[in-house]
Amino acid sequence: MSDAPSTIAPEFAGFFAALQERALAFPCCDTCARFHWYPMKACPHCRSSVISWRRIAGTGSLYSWTTVRHAFDPAWRDRLPYIVALVEFPDAPGVRLIANVAADPESLAIGMAVTPCFDDGVAIGKSGVTFVPAGNA
Ligand SMILES: [Zn+2]
Repeated sequence: MSDAPSTIAPEFAGFFAALQERALAFPCCDTCARFHWYPMKACPHCRSSVISWRRIAGTGSLYSWTTVRHAFDPAWRDRLPYIVALVEFPDAPGVRLIANVAADPESLAIGMAVTPCFDDGVAIGKSGVTFVPAGNA
């Protein structure tokens, strides 16, 4: 966690610690074994406060996306167009992660498999993870 930006809220520490090891992890309730996202102090399903970060395989599917064609911040103008997506994971039911997808927007389809790229240089912005269509990683 030492290399993570200091602006990261502490409740997201487990997510970013996993990213630094090129993995995805989400909070999972130790009582009811259900995932949730975003991190919460109590499980939204059973209200237990016994929650652990669990790593997942990382392969996901595209739930939805939008193509951003206008920069709301001038700093993002050079990246246009870019894709902001909701990605689901078969081994973390209930989690939908907002992330960038690096692909031709016309090539995307709901439910298509995507895999994470943990790359500081290629990722749009500094999120630490960008998804690409499976087979293109
Ligand atoms: Zn629970």
